[in-house]
Amino acid sequence: MISKHRIEMPTQPAELRIKNFDEVELGFTEEQAIAEAQRCIQCKKPKCVEGCPVNVKIPEFIKLITERKFDEAAKKIKETNSLPAICGRVCPQETQCEAKCVLGIKGEPVSIGRLERFAADNETTETIPIIRKKNKKVAVVGAGPAGLTAAGELAKFGYDVDVFEALHEPGGVLVYGIPEFRLPKKIVQKECDYIRKLGVNIKCNYVIGKIFTIDDLLKNGYEAVFMGNGAGLPNFLNIPGENLVGVYSANEFLTRVNLMKSYLFGKYDTPVAISDTVAVIGGGNVAMDACRCAKRLGAKNVYCLYRRTRKEMPARAEEIKHAEEEKIEFRFLVNPIKIYGDENGRVSKIECVQMELGEPDASGRRRPIVIPNSNFTIDAGTVIIAIGQSANPIAVENQRDIKTNKWGYIEVNEQTGATSKPGVYAGGDIVTGAATVILAMGAGLIAAKSIDEYLTKK
Ligand SMILES: Cc1cc2nc3c(=O)[nH]c(=O)nc-3n(C[C@H](O)[C@H](O)[C@H](O)COP(=O)(O)OP(=O)(O)OC[C@H]3O[C@@H](n4cnc5c(N)ncnc54)[C@H](O)[C@@H]3O)c2cc1C
Repeated sequence: MISKHRIEMPTQPAELRIKNFDEVELGFTEEQAIAEAQRCIQCKKPKCVEGCPVNVKIPEFIKLITERKFDEAAKKIKETNSLPAICGRVCPQETQCEAKCVLGIKGEPVSIGRLERFAADNETTETIPIIRKKNKKVAVVGAGPAGLTAAGELAKFGYDVDVFEALHEPGGVLVYGIPEFRLPKKIVQKECDYIRKLGVNIKCNYVIGKIFTIDDLLKNGYEAVFMGNGAGLPNFLNIPGENLVGVYSANEFLTRVNLMKSYLFGKYDTPVAISDTVAVIGGGNVAMDACRCAKRLGAKNVYCLYRRTRKEMPARAEEIKHAEEEKIEFRFLVNPIKIYGDENGRVSKIECVQMELGEPDASGRRRPIVIPNSNFTIDAGTVIIAIGQSANPIAVENQRDIKTNKWGYIEVNEQTGATSKPGVYAGGDIVTGAATVILAMGAGLIAAKSIDEYLTKK
């Protein structure tokens, strides 16, 4: 019988998972996946496809799952999405494809993301398309979801693609930001390997803007460049005490823990200092990841300080639920104004003010307003600031002909991804500001098509 309700996905119990970095969600079994796939009513005009920024052929791949054709289901997804195991784990489906599912009007939408993950994880034979080479070279800056997607698509069009990545591993936020327990590194590795199998050459430890400028690339045989260099510059609160020992930006904290494996300190060289009480400031996915990593590193109390309420939190609903299950303590309507240190310059406490919500601001969310004389302190030995990221200027700082806006994000034609410099395209967080994996991938896809049109005409 076809279930009215979504099939639950097994997860590690909270009391167990806070002691390890293994994946929290364990994925569907074959029977669970088939039962969930059978809930899809195969709409003639599927709205879910419109809701996906890369237009995955959702009903078609779901039908293949019902027929137990798992390899073919994965192949169908990969027609428009080269990173399905990643998207199946971290995409905010609840506001995209699943938000458009007709079953969601009166009941529960199909778990499209979980089925995507299942298809990708259960692919046994990868199909690599046969590619006719064009003998033209394209450079891609950054190996995050935008760069990897653009590179994969350009390779499928027949270009020789070199990706220049600043860090020692490809993946961007997928490896340095999102923790192992949400997105295992081996999954990212596997999908990066698929991009390599399409013929893409990923060159790590190349900081564009320092080792080569964009002009250098264009003068040295690359006929076009895609910039997918992300928004990796952490924002700070600019309050007294932010330079004390024990205060981290979430970027630094998560990079140490995840990419540089400080959770295995001893086996790996990167240390991370964690105290019994940790305060994480912010309410987005990054803050949830920082809270949950701190818990796993042994902190007894992890406070999440957020200046609005739970309703306005930008983090995915699922991440907030998981954090609550893991006993992260949320303090809403709280804003830090000063961080205090002890005689050794180490963080000891944070002074905060209580907030209330006023009228909606430009973001549509109600503006937090300080309640006068509401100051109080919270003891904390580690403070992690997770209040957003900005554009990193390095790639374009010597490149005046690539126009940026007042925040440093690259200006592009939205339909094509073209920047103000002929032959140079951009997409992902470096254009939109911090957004999502799938939006970055969508931008990579659009730019790859535009680069192909540009080079075909050229
Ligand atoms: C902790 C965290 C958790 C998140 N969780 C989610 C989630 O659950 N779901 C979701 O959809 N989104 C999530 N996001 C947002 C999402 O990861 C980003 O929107 C997405 O990764 C943007 O992709 P991108 O390719 O534009 O940039 P990035 O992923 O930032 O990749 C940019 C790459 O460019 C490289 N680079 C930068 N400058 C240079 C240079 N000068 N030369 C060479 N290389 C350079 C960087 O090292 C990096 O590898 C999260 C973000 C963070 C920080």
